[in-house]
Amino acid sequence: MKYYILFGPPGAGKGTQAAAMVEKYNLHHISTGALLRKEIAAGTELGVLAKSLIEKGCLVPDEVVEGMIENEFSTVTGVEGFLLDGFPRTIPQAEALDEILSKRGTEVTAVVSIMIPDEMVMERIKGRALKEGRADDASEEIINTRIATYHNQTEPLIAYYGNAGKYHHINGVGSIEEVGERIFEVMDRF
Ligand code: ADP
Repeated sequence: MKYYILFGPPGAGKGTQAAAMVEKYNLHHISTGALLRKEIAAGTELGVLAKSLIEKGCLVPDEVVEGMIENEFSTVTGVEGFLLDGFPRTIPQAEALDEILSKRGTEVTAVVSIMIPDEMVMERIKGRALKEGRADDASEEIINTRIATYHNQTEPLIAYYGNAGKYHHINGVGSIEEVGERIFEVMDRF
């Protein structure tokens, strides 16, 4: 089993590229953001908690997403691997993931990191807001909080996975196809 992490700031195009990656390499896509939005739509207790945090641009507690990931790993079969999108987002989550995988006798295969500048983050999220109507895309203030959350809590993962020799930088500026080709070039090595 392969365990890929799709990394990058909000709006980098992770969701778009994930669709092509899962198809080409027969992976199961786990988007913690999408799983949380499903809980919100279903009105579960977890969804109510998640909603209040997500709408402010904050992260939900580590244990919540870690539980979701473990659940997916143990229930999904018939794939060559998993594509984690939006997880891990903090150092403690990355450490928890290492532990979950080591219990399964394995480790992270590679981190594919799509990078775009902050100005482009704002531009792309505003464009997406018009199409998808996500509450956390609604205002410039919330988007700025998410960009700050990314820099403070998520960006340290670049060094974490860099030190482990697993980090692969992808230039996310370009057409969907161009960025896709850059990603496939990295993934073909594993
Ligand atoms: P984006 O890629 O645009 O940042 P996501 O759909 O991945 O959006 O996530 C939306 C929101 O869901 C995040 O801003 C955060 O509040 C919550 N979330 C998603 N994944 C995690 C995670 N691993 N840890 C904590 N919160 C998360």
